[in-house]
Amino acid sequence: MATAVKTAVKYVYSFGPDGTDGEAKMRDLLGGKGANLAEMTKIGLPVPAGFTIGTNVCNYYYAHDKSYPTELKELVSAAMAKIEQEMGAKFGSTTNPLLVSCRSGARDSMPGMMDTVLNIGLNDQTVDALAKQSGNERFAWDSYRRFVQMYGDVVLDMKPKTKEDHDPFEELLHAKKEKAGVKLDTELSAPQLKELVAEFKKAIKEGTGKQFPDDPMQQVWGAIGAVFGSWMNDRAVVYRRTYGIPHEWGTAVNVQAMVFGNLGDDCATGVAMTRDVALGAPGLNGDYLINAQGEDVVAGIRTPKRIEETLAKDMPASHKELTEIGQKLEKHYKDVQDIEFTVQRGRVWMLQTRNAKRTGFAAVRIAVDFVNEKLITKQEALQARRIPADDLNQLLQPLYDPKSKQKALKEGRMLAKGINAGPGAASGKICFHASDAEAAWLKDKNVELILVRRETSPEDLRGMKIAKGILTAFGGASSHAALVSRQMGKACIVGCGDLDIDYRAGTMTVGSTVLRVGDDISIDGFTGEVFKGDVEERPSEILQVLLDKTLKPEESEVYGRFQQLMGWVDENRKLKVRTNADEPKQAQEAIAFGAEGIGLCRTEHMFFDHIDDFRQMILAETLEGREVALAKLLPFQSEDFAGLFQAMNGRPVTIRLLDPPLHEFLPHQPAEQAELAKKIGVSAEVIARRVAELHEFNPMLGHRGCRLGIVYPEITRMQARAIFEAACQVQKSGIKVAVEVMVPLVGFAAEFKDQEAIIRETATKVFGEQKVKVEYLVGTMVEVPRACACAESVAERAEFFSFGTNDLTQTTLGMSRDDYAGYINHYREHDIVPNDPFQTIDIDGVGALMKIAVAGGRKARPNLKIGICGEHGGDPASVHFCHAIGLDYVSCSPFRVPIARLAAAQAAVAGK
Ligand code: ADP
Ligand code: MG
Ligand code: MG
Repeated sequence: MATAVKTAVKYVYSFGPDGTDGEAKMRDLLGGKGANLAEMTKIGLPVPAGFTIGTNVCNYYYAHDKSYPTELKELVSAAMAKIEQEMGAKFGSTTNPLLVSCRSGARDSMPGMMDTVLNIGLNDQTVDALAKQSGNERFAWDSYRRFVQMYGDVVLDMKPKTKEDHDPFEELLHAKKEKAGVKLDTELSAPQLKELVAEFKKAIKEGTGKQFPDDPMQQVWGAIGAVFGSWMNDRAVVYRRTYGIPHEWGTAVNVQAMVFGNLGDDCATGVAMTRDVALGAPGLNGDYLINAQGEDVVAGIRTPKRIEETLAKDMPASHKELTEIGQKLEKHYKDVQDIEFTVQRGRVWMLQTRNAKRTGFAAVRIAVDFVNEKLITKQEALQARRIPADDLNQLLQPLYDPKSKQKALKEGRMLAKGINAGPGAASGKICFHASDAEAAWLKDKNVELILVRRETSPEDLRGMKIAKGILTAFGGASSHAALVSRQMGKACIVGCGDLDIDYRAGTMTVGSTVLRVGDDISIDGFTGEVFKGDVEERPSEILQVLLDKTLKPEESEVYGRFQQLMGWVDENRKLKVRTNADEPKQAQEAIAFGAEGIGLCRTEHMFFDHIDDFRQMILAETLEGREVALAKLLPFQSEDFAGLFQAMNGRPVTIRLLDPPLHEFLPHQPAEQAELAKKIGVSAEVIARRVAELHEFNPMLGHRGCRLGIVYPEITRMQARAIFEAACQVQKSGIKVAVEVMVPLVGFAAEFKDQEAIIRETATKVFGEQKVKVEYLVGTMVEVPRACACAESVAERAEFFSFGTNDLTQTTLGMSRDDYAGYINHYREHDIVPNDPFQTIDIDGVGALMKIAVAGGRKARPNLKIGICGEHGGDPASVHFCHAIGLDYVSCSPFRVPIARLAAAQAAVAGK
């Protein structure tokens, strides 16, 4: 079984009908292709005999001035002899010649590596033998012609380097066809191909000064050297740098007996998937060509035929055999396979297999089907490598019809590309101002608008709600626009730097294209692409079932599988999943997606609906004045909370007290100030003065969070009253309420104590008035490093912690998320940071503080409830971290709830 020559280190691994030295597990040493060729051989599939030279030789080669271990020559000769024996042919024989291919193969498939050379072993003598033996002279010369061309291109490096360069072989081939008056390569006759071979060899001599090698062994070594040499070529090095593949991995080389798909009409070559990888339907599918070799299928010289359409008719026996092989491979690898095969005179040969890449749709269908077919367990179905949690998104968002998008691309309607912040597809008319969106909506509730802004702010909220999609020129993936869009489940592209927006002129310019208010655009939030005009959409079935109720669950297969998968998810996860929602409608959507509570209700969003009263409160210069305004707000807040409690029906609701600095609510333009002055009866000067007084140089670190409630206790008192009155009222109506009052931005235990006292005092008062008691907790948002460091003392009074990782990241890294867009991409590209810290928790920094806070908090209060409510709560990698440090729940925007559930289950099964 083993190679004939003994060495301490094994360099050469054979595979063939008589057995194999390698297997799939040896991927690091044999490369992906070599390891799987060995594995297929091992499980009894028809694989042409061959051998793999390990990646250890590649490393030796570069460590030893591009030379080989001394024993390699002998090892290769011995392995060749083994192929000869197994295939019953002889390399270089002038009566019964063996031909081989030489194929590169790193651990992961890697564009930039050397291309495969086929038909090695041909020369002017062996070609005659091949012709005689096959009884097909044309075939022999066609193979020879291909070989000389590939050898020249790949081994002797004559392949064109730029688009302008010409491939001398292609030119000669083209001229030959022209002269012969034919269109296809297959129409050239043996004598014409013979002429071509001579011309090719001449071109090689002229182009490289070298003679084409006639000695088969010299040909093999030339090809092997070219594979190892290509590991360090520029393209390969750049590719590895981009994808973080270590240079030490090295490549393997596979030398394998040729099988021929170009011997006649009972021969074919093809590539196939064992299931559909776009939507996941079972059944072998792919491309094939009759009477063709190797790369012809992908080269586009002839249009390939579809396996699922015609192979059963063209080659019934081979189709059946391939189908069975596909099933065997799926059973063995427990995954969908992407295979290469050749049919030689009715006999099927396997040349490659690997796990197939797939869309989110296919990933879900395949995982669920595999469980139902008993190929894998439910827990295996949840593995992150099978369904990357983020890919669930694709099932929830409306999609552009791929055909329509292709058409738009062809018509040159793609305008620009930004950061794909909110997945989804949205087409509509350009609208530059939230107020215009509101006005348009008042006239027509069905308006379809895309809100196009330099950036967005809380004032744009209602306009954003109306818009179908949001497009901004600035800001990163956690900018206001991105954050709110995701919470609303809207398509959103941010940081689209190519947009030149002129609010005054009402234009958006990209290069030489000028678009105006009301012009149609389409944004693809999956890819960040912006199109001019319309692209057709398709709504997601899952949303139709869960939210719109326009589709019955049993009518949607996509939904059925999603539902089944999510059942397994919930059986396996430890973390609870809540949502960030401020409104009953959002809360209901989140529940439909499986949310188990509200982790963050931002009360300030409610104030925007009663902004004038709120502004009056801010502008008041006395306590009495503020109390008058707050009294007006109280019923509205209470009503909003009641709506949320009803929607959540007994599930926990965490309500955060007012957080942003007050000036964010005031108008900054003189015209708006004048208008407000008229409305609330104070002078415009007073407003302007108050705005100036409240101005902050660094609002992120300004008078905000609990600092507001401490200086203006009446605000906390009003909010607490609104919360408890609503809770009592809803509870009296027979609906259970579980409320958690959250104090933001606490750094000192004393801050918490101050606010807690007001909250508890108010609760007691309200319960007395209402003659009913409601369960409640008072806790804090952990979002400054001091709270982490002093977690033990904070937790002496706080009944729960919720990590506000947006602010915790800002305050730990000293990075403002509103200003980091300018350098974060540079940081990412230069490997300064591994991730965008506002998308994925910075585990070493922010994560370390979180661990300190968990330990400190649970020291004071072993059963302390701890969650996370920052944007990170919906990021799979961050969810894994939260699971690992023992949090009780994560909270994220409604549309990310299923993703967080899946990620939580994946974290749980990964640990098993
Ligand atoms: P790639 O990694 O680019 O797919 P491969 O080494 O898989 O390169 O080979 C390219 C093509 O040549 C494939 O279609 C493969 O099936 C075909 N091929 C490779 N080796 C042989 C062989 N020994 N006999 C027949 N066809 C082969
Ligand atoms: Mg291949
Ligand atoms: Mg915060």
